[in-house]
Amino acid sequence: MKEIITAQRNFFNTHATKNLHFRRKQLKILQQALEKNESLLHEAIYRDFKKSEFDNYTTELSLLYKDIKEARSNIFKWARTKPVSISILNFPASSYIIPEPLGVCLVIGAWNYPYQLSFAPVIAAIAAGNTVILKPSELPSNTAAAMAKIVKENFDPAYFTVVEGGVEEIQELLKQKFDKIFFTGSTKVGKIVYKAAAENLTPVTLELGGKSPAIVTENCNLKVSVRRLVWGKFLNAGQTCIAPDYVLVHKSIEQKFLERAKEEIISQHFAFENDNYLQIINDDNFERLTKMLVPEKIYYGGQTHKETRYIQPTIMQNVTMDDAVMKEEIFGPILPVLTYETIEEAIAKVNSLPKPLSCYLFTKSSSIKKKILKEISFGGGAINETVMHISNSNLPFGGVGQSGIGNYHGEAGFKAFTHYKSVMDKPTWLDPSIRYYPHTPFRLKLMRWFLKF
Ligand code: NAD
Repeated sequence: MKEIITAQRNFFNTHATKNLHFRRKQLKILQQALEKNESLLHEAIYRDFKKSEFDNYTTELSLLYKDIKEARSNIFKWARTKPVSISILNFPASSYIIPEPLGVCLVIGAWNYPYQLSFAPVIAAIAAGNTVILKPSELPSNTAAAMAKIVKENFDPAYFTVVEGGVEEIQELLKQKFDKIFFTGSTKVGKIVYKAAAENLTPVTLELGGKSPAIVTENCNLKVSVRRLVWGKFLNAGQTCIAPDYVLVHKSIEQKFLERAKEEIISQHFAFENDNYLQIINDDNFERLTKMLVPEKIYYGGQTHKETRYIQPTIMQNVTMDDAVMKEEIFGPILPVLTYETIEEAIAKVNSLPKPLSCYLFTKSSSIKKKILKEISFGGGAINETVMHISNSNLPFGGVGQSGIGNYHGEAGFKAFTHYKSVMDKPTWLDPSIRYYPHTPFRLKLMRWFLKF
């Protein structure tokens, strides 16, 4: 580990990565490598948890291609030195901000969107001019191996490399000094990473999880709302950090909501026999999820199959905040439905839990929309939609409180891997003595006047 980091630090110190053409070229190399290896990437992810080519393209690779394209087109704008105004006190100086890369960065990925969550931060790090060590999640072992192979074939490890392995390897990595750590994963492991980073005062971005609510009011467009909600929930078999974790539906439409949700699951064909639906990533998660199922509360679904790690898309009704399914992030295909009678009650329920990564509201009421946006704190979210806010790279993506620190995507990603160096640049032809000692009442008077501007 030490050798890799030293090699990367030496390479960073050559200043080669500060050249914007160099960065654009590296992004192009990554794009071509991904394109060339699409079938390898598809096969690996299918073997890991039965993710289809359609889902792999739409929720992983296409987002990476878009990120690369956007970074390549905007890099000159994002990396530009930006002049800022000065006060009269500093006349005739100029002031400017120089975006500079941080140095050697560690990116730790989560397993649920293994390509996207590993390479998207890498793209941002490269665009910002850093060197990168990527540690993908070890759970989907085939995708981790595919990424390691592709990176090894296309990049000098002194610039960008993949370290495979599990907890032991990460712990070893975390003992080293980095200039930035970008972590995606659970809040529990986020705390471990944050503590390790504190030893070296390394800046971090922590992309964590949480229980993201969906609030459905009585005056929403129920058909479209449920369709979008069911899609966002059962996409990736519910193993999505921004999936609606639970639904708060107005009591008056509870039955209609449940019926429609069931119809939607059936009509969107979330079934194991086809490739619309995924496996649970491993046995531990399968066990964890099946423990949340309470037979008498299952409205629809509930079938499980241990050998194939299959959990049928499941709707639970009459759920309360005391049920096991409400005690932790679900991260699987179980949708608990809770009810509320006043919007204040719904808000209070959401606010009784840690600040979520996402929040979704389905309503036609602009006053409720305003109230929710004002009274619930969340990382990012959507009105009358789920998940899709992630696809707009103009929206910084990240959590708040327990759901994360910092954000990325688009220019926000560039900023996450950049230090903004502030400089005042002064000529010497004018040097008024007003600020120098000895001070006099007259100088103080002048100062009082100057400092107004
Ligand atoms: P995880 O925290 O178990 O693992 C994430 C990474 O941490 C992996 O690379 C893993 O190898 C490493 N790790 C695991 N245990 C560790 C330890 N003791 N010390 C150091 N490193 C360790 O998370 P996960 O299971 O991969 O992903 C699920 C979680 O991630 C969910 O909470 C989900 O909401 C969250 N998530 C967040 C985002 C986001 O963008 N905010 C995206 C995807 C997943």
